[in-house]
Amino acid sequence: MAASAGPEIERLIALLAKLPGLGPRSARRAALALLKRRVDLLDPLHSALGEAAARVGVCQVCGSLDTRDPCAVCADVTRDASLICVVEEVGALWAMERGGSYRGRYHVLGGLLSALDGVGPDALRVTALTARAREAPVKEVILALPATVDGQTTAHYLADRLAGTGVAVTMLARGVPVGGELDWLDDGTIAQALRARRPA
Ligand SMILES: [Zn+2]
Repeated sequence: MAASAGPEIERLIALLAKLPGLGPRSARRAALALLKRRVDLLDPLHSALGEAAARVGVCQVCGSLDTRDPCAVCADVTRDASLICVVEEVGALWAMERGGSYRGRYHVLGGLLSALDGVGPDALRVTALTARAREAPVKEVILALPATVDGQTTAHYLADRLAGTGVAVTMLARGVPVGGELDWLDDGTIAQALRARRPA
């Protein structure tokens, strides 16, 4: 990269470009926005980043991110401790929480099994999950993994590993999305929805 903006700014751009969803061009725009808006953007972001770096860590129970350990969800006694929802990453946990209808606990796997990328069970928090599943009062493990090849491979592997623990193992239903038109669905989704039909 030609250092047309000076080495400090180029370094800022290079770091921003490593963020998901930002390429070099959008990283340049973001850097420029930050530098032009020092008071309302750059300074608050600087202190937010410093605070996150100093205080946010991994929850030793579920693998989520929080400023406390155990995290706020694991420490919340009003949540149903008999349910563990397994998610690929913290982003999926946040999505479940935004939905607002789940009141159990979580287990963040830290990825998915992938033969292609060489990700085996040892790279994921599988042993910690089976250990948690054996602990009272856990009764059900919900596999909320992506509907992709790797997601489904991982779900089947986890179902096998959890088979001996005595807990019920369930998966999220797949099918017609809320507000979805049948016309717009792909054949695989329609087939899944048909298989997962239930009494009206
Ligand atoms: Zn936690």
